[in-house]
Amino acid sequence: MVKKRLASGEPCRKCAQAEDMLRRRGLWHRIDEVVWAQEGDPDAAGWRLAAEHGIDTAPFFVVRDAAGERVYTSALKLTKEALAQGAPAPPAQPASAGPSPDDLAAAARELEGARPEDIVAWALSRYGKTCAIAFSGAEDVVLLDIAARTGLPFSAFCLDTGRLDPETYEHIDAVRDHYGIEIDMVLPDPEPVRELVRRKGLFSFYRDGHEECCNVRKVAPLEATLSHYRAWLTGQRRDQNEATRSALPAVQADPRFSGPTGPLVKLNPLAAWTAADVWAAIHERGIPYNPLFDRGYRSIGCAPCTRPVPPGKSDRAGRWWWEHADDKECGLHVGSKPSSAKPA
Ligand code: SF4
Repeated sequence: MVKKRLASGEPCRKCAQAEDMLRRRGLWHRIDEVVWAQEGDPDAAGWRLAAEHGIDTAPFFVVRDAAGERVYTSALKLTKEALAQGAPAPPAQPASAGPSPDDLAAAARELEGARPEDIVAWALSRYGKTCAIAFSGAEDVVLLDIAARTGLPFSAFCLDTGRLDPETYEHIDAVRDHYGIEIDMVLPDPEPVRELVRRKGLFSFYRDGHEECCNVRKVAPLEATLSHYRAWLTGQRRDQNEATRSALPAVQADPRFSGPTGPLVKLNPLAAWTAADVWAAIHERGIPYNPLFDRGYRSIGCAPCTRPVPPGKSDRAGRWWWEHADDKECGLHVGSKPSSAKPA
């Protein structure tokens, strides 16, 4: 790896981020040597190597193996095309195997009270890239951080309703850069959205409830997306809403959505965490967070349906504030109530 060292003696920020990403993925040990390109010193070994390969930037990576010599200027591309080839693969799963109710009950017993790190590692070691993290651009970024630290493969997606705050879009991109991961932005089918807006306008949810718009912009795209995965990880917590999430289990068969081979495993590794636990992790680990949290937001969704929450209210009180507390779900998550869970 060729890293740039600034005149101040510090490594450049981009080089430090690339190294950090490789370390988090457990691939740093595969870097044989670090060659420095000292700022202002064209004779530094790193700059000479750069000139040799027709490059004028750092970081970059020179890979020499049986296939010859190749140069990568992207740590992400290096990871995917070169280093990951020798990384441990997740256990093979029979293509037709969905978890049986007994398997899931055993998993739920095994993981009851387990640390989020152990629940995430359990899921990723079994399902790999067929396990997706549903990242909403909110504090569930902690899940991505935990997953990235395992060094195991995983997928990540974000439901892009088209109504998110600009700050949320910027945060999603910042997270993508910070962890060097791909985040699949899942857009709704344009036809139902166009039809809804044509009939009712852009703000019908204020008049007749959020369900119709959420179904079109969130639930249907989620259902289509999850049909490609065997397991998914959510950032739900029991403390977010007494009415809807107080009985949230750490592991369950998804009560609403299915995977390609039948039952979909749904994991809620942060179920037992409090908001304070999440924020302690964010600050201790330097995890990027949505700047809206600094403006009083406590649960972030679409811009027109989210507002800051006054002290003493639940985190979800700022979502669809014009509706009853029992209805503060968008239909993505059911089966979390103490009793009588109903699809929203
Ligand atoms: S949160 Fe609001 S804008 Fe977003 S999909 Fe639901 S009703 Fe529509």
